[in-house]
Amino acid sequence: MQGLIIIHTGPGKGKTTAALGTGMRAVGAGLRVLMLQFIKGSWHYGELEAVKAFGGQFEIRQMGRGFVKIGAEKPDPEDVRLVEEAWDQARREMHSGNWDLVILDEINYAISYKMLAPEPVAEFLRARPENLHVILTGRNAHPLLVELADTVTEMRDVKHAYQKGIQAQRGIEY
Ligand code: ATP
Ligand code: MG
Repeated sequence: MQGLIIIHTGPGKGKTTAALGTGMRAVGAGLRVLMLQFIKGSWHYGELEAVKAFGGQFEIRQMGRGFVKIGAEKPDPEDVRLVEEAWDQARREMHSGNWDLVILDEINYAISYKMLAPEPVAEFLRARPENLHVILTGRNAHPLLVELADTVTEMRDVKHAYQKGIQAQRGIEY
């Protein structure tokens, strides 16, 4: 087995859900999957319930508080702290030997909002255990990580129901 680095980025819908789909496929192949959600925390996403059916073979952990204040010049120190904690845990888990696929959900977002520096992430991923697969999701993937990755997919926003004023639908959006 050869571990891959995969990125799902771009403005269109489907980055996190494609990672969950890959996680489901991986579980079916006997792999152990961990998703760490870097930003999410408050909304109760359907996937948190769904993975319970897989026992400990597919785990999802929410590491954030569900939103990040944007627009400000500097990110809120509390958000930075949570992101740093998430990254610490990610590093530990990637070296624990407990997982075959680790999904770093919205890590690209954390990097693009300067809550986490891309260089140490790239450096760590380059030196990870060679059989470990890693998926990074979120808009605005950093060029350094795009260069490092084996497979990169950019979701293009052709249209989204939200633009017609349709509210987020339970089971589809969250
Ligand atoms: P999903 O979790 O549905 O795969 P995503 O991971 O590609 O979406 P994020 O940037 O993480 O997208 O945003 C998560 C939420 O925003 C989801 O509820 C998603 O449906 C919604 N969303 C994603 N893309 C768009 C868009 N282009 N316009 C409006 N809402 C969007
Ligand atoms: Mg997402």
